[in-house]
Amino acid sequence: MNHFELLDGELACEGVPLAVIAEAVGTPVYVYSSATLERHYTVLRDALTGAGLKDPLIAFAVKANSNVAVLRTLARLGAGADVVSEGEIRRALAAGVPPERMVFSGVGKTEAEVEFAVETGVGEINVEAEPELHLINRVAQRLGKRADIAFRVNPDVAAGGHAKISTGKSENKFGVSFSEAERLYANAANMAGVRPVGVTCHIGSQITDLAPLEAAFIKMRGLVERIRREGLTLERLDLGGGLGVPYFNSPTPPSPDDYAAMIGRVMAGLDIQFAFEPGRMICANAGVLLARALHVHERPEGRRFLVIDAAMNDLLRPAMYDAYHDIRPVKPRRDESAAYDVVGPICETGDTFTRDRVLPVLEAGDLLAFMSAGAYGASMSSEYNSRLLIPEVLVRGDQFAVVRARPTYDDMLDRERSAPWL
Ligand SMILES: *Cc1c(COP(=O)(O)O)cnc(C)c1O
Repeated sequence: MNHFELLDGELACEGVPLAVIAEAVGTPVYVYSSATLERHYTVLRDALTGAGLKDPLIAFAVKANSNVAVLRTLARLGAGADVVSEGEIRRALAAGVPPERMVFSGVGKTEAEVEFAVETGVGEINVEAEPELHLINRVAQRLGKRADIAFRVNPDVAAGGHAKISTGKSENKFGVSFSEAERLYANAANMAGVRPVGVTCHIGSQITDLAPLEAAFIKMRGLVERIRREGLTLERLDLGGGLGVPYFNSPTPPSPDDYAAMIGRVMAGLDIQFAFEPGRMICANAGVLLARALHVHERPEGRRFLVIDAAMNDLLRPAMYDAYHDIRPVKPRRDESAAYDVVGPICETGDTFTRDRVLPVLEAGDLLAFMSAGAYGASMSSEYNSRLLIPEVLVRGDQFAVVRARPTYDDMLDRERSAPWL
């Protein structure tokens, strides 16, 4: 459920018509609903606690939506943060996430990033490969600290809505293999610079079937029990993120209640602290990309292109993952419909949001909203074609605030220097 509905015949975010935001801030622009963010977080938390998981850590995956105001909205509800870079740690800190509620994932952490994480006191550094274990141990000892770590285990289970977001097979680069995990855990327990606190897995993204998650979780429980049988301390089981969201054309994902019930069943009787790293399911349907039609270009051969002011640099998912976004006119006032290829202005054929999509008839100047764009939208955007990063707006009730301003062209050019020989 989300809070983008018609209000007096026009698409609005909570109590604010999108046309009002377009007028005030310009297009393209990302618009986020606080109520939807809060609802998704609390629905998940209540489902997990309802299934008997006490006080789970819900570490929002910052890479899904890195805006500090979005992070702060969630942090105020008690969310932690799953971070994958120093930049994301800094964003989470700026949003008021306590470091002990941060989980630092990622297959290639630099020494500087590890140092920053250890100094900050990040609550769980996820080790994804053996050399990383030694790096963290070395850095923490140098700083006179002992870093809390967890091992990211690759459960060798296939899952995820697209090959590029499937992470849980042994041929993927993520995590240590199951067979190494116990040995590494035992080794880590004897190291002076690290303290192993748990194990973690994350098998993919946009998962719409509970079966692969369940298969992975059963394996993870077995691993926890084997490690504990060695007499080692293991306090936390982090089950990652990955639950899919409805993108309208996709299979219906499991509800948070079904997800939580499955976990309650698989983990029955296991006394442990649970952690989760959801990204998409919290924020995807809490955001839209609002764009304006520049013109309609009809070819004599029959194709009809709707050229808009947003492009693949603003919303990469269709170009990168063939992702489907529902497209809704902000003022659906015409009864007729037509098939459009919706395209951006970038000089690449990949700058196509959809082909042959039947939409209400649109004309130059009309506003349209790409739904479910709150996850992996702004956070994946770039300045390709020297287009400025677009602003982000957060709505709460009948108020809205620009939470990332549109930069100026001077901002863009001021970052660059000439070379001495030019
Ligand atoms: C991307 C990622 C997540 C979040 O995935 P979603 O599909 O957005 O829930 C969680 N954990 C890790 C380690 C990730 O890389």
